[in-house]
Amino acid sequence: MRKLKAYRFRIYPTAEQEEMFRRISGCCRLVYNLGLEQRRTFWRQYRDTQGRHISCAGQRREIKDLKAEAAFLKEVPAHCLQMALVDLDSAFQRFFSGAGGYPRPRKRLRNDSFTFPDPEQIRVDVGRGVLILPKFGRTSRDNGPIRAVFHRQLEGRVRRVTIGRDGTHWYASVQVAVRVRRALKPEGITEADVVAADRGAVVPVVTSDGALLGAPVTTERDRRKLKRLQKQLARTQRGSKRHLKALGRLRAKTAKLTRRRRDMTHQITSTFAKNHRVVILEDLKVQAMTASAKGTVAEPGRNVAQKAGLNRSILDVGWGEIERQLRYKLAWHGGVLLKVPAANTSRTCAQCLTVDAASRVSRDRFRCTSCGHESDADVNAAIEIRRRGLIALGLRPRPGLPGLPVEPSAPSTAPCETREKEKSGTQPRGAIAPETVRA
Ligand SMILES: [Zn+2]
Repeated sequence: MRKLKAYRFRIYPTAEQEEMFRRISGCCRLVYNLGLEQRRTFWRQYRDTQGRHISCAGQRREIKDLKAEAAFLKEVPAHCLQMALVDLDSAFQRFFSGAGGYPRPRKRLRNDSFTFPDPEQIRVDVGRGVLILPKFGRTSRDNGPIRAVFHRQLEGRVRRVTIGRDGTHWYASVQVAVRVRRALKPEGITEADVVAADRGAVVPVVTSDGALLGAPVTTERDRRKLKRLQKQLARTQRGSKRHLKALGRLRAKTAKLTRRRRDMTHQITSTFAKNHRVVILEDLKVQAMTASAKGTVAEPGRNVAQKAGLNRSILDVGWGEIERQLRYKLAWHGGVLLKVPAANTSRTCAQCLTVDAASRVSRDRFRCTSCGHESDADVNAAIEIRRRGLIALGLRPRPGLPGLPVEPSAPSTAPCETREKEKSGTQPRGAIAPETVRA
């Protein structure tokens, strides 16, 4: 079976090439927005006069007429313009299927990407460190090949390339089709294949084998800096040069944090997908959890400040994104993602299964009110999530010590900061769980 995979490489266009990028993205936006306008405003009129609905293919045919009116469209690669309408169509499909909102017009600086869909016209030259695309290096008179840093080997067959920008950097996203392992059969799963992950209070992800993955993305210093940049921006006059400059600085900073977050998320999910065949997560509604706690005037919410802090940390690690990446990366390796009900996982003792809110003695410590089992609150919750996953898979964990693993995962396989969680605990891990499974 084949699956799509995308590699993102930083590219370093020359001033000339960058100018061309701007022109292409401008034209693609124009075509996209005109197509959107046509669908939004004229669909009824179109249906009544033409006897059919506006289709993607129909819109794509109309590009020819559009070019007759706007000659500058002829100077950019035709395929990119076509792709803008394909993107528009997918946005509408998502809307009709309920997966997305009504498509919105594309804006400069926010939607600067464009796609080259024809593999025949794309060459990724890893050896020379260049990317060759229509208008870029295909003939001796065009804008020349684009310099790129291929920080990793490509595998699979190239299907398309998207050029885009975040903040101040340009990048190329190379989509390839790769062969993937056949999905794991349920009867082939053993306890050792199963690991659970929970969001941590201190680090983004905590696993049932005691590993702490990742580190908070935004530090207090970053937050101060962001605030300062926002203030600077607020003091400038809209449309002035200083306003643009301040906006650029703020964008560069947020783009940097976004890159940091993306890098960390990818590292965590890649390690997971490579090392585990079944990953269990809590079925949480991220949106509901991050809903504002402010409440209404008549009924003000409680713990507003505390909730705001929690929101920040949940959104900071992008739990939804972690889940999305885990799902597709596990699929590449033939693994599966399973979700179990979240109720009470943070209040359940992993050792004796007693549910008591009082056991959670602080934000990050758990001490069972019934049996006295003490551990990191997030690791305890992850173990409980794993137990529920094992039950859901029909692999009943051993009685008494529900799937409490003996060793933490090897630090060498963990992406970021991994440390043994029990170091402040009272008992060594081996002592509490003498006869349990290896995770
Ligand atoms: Zn207990």
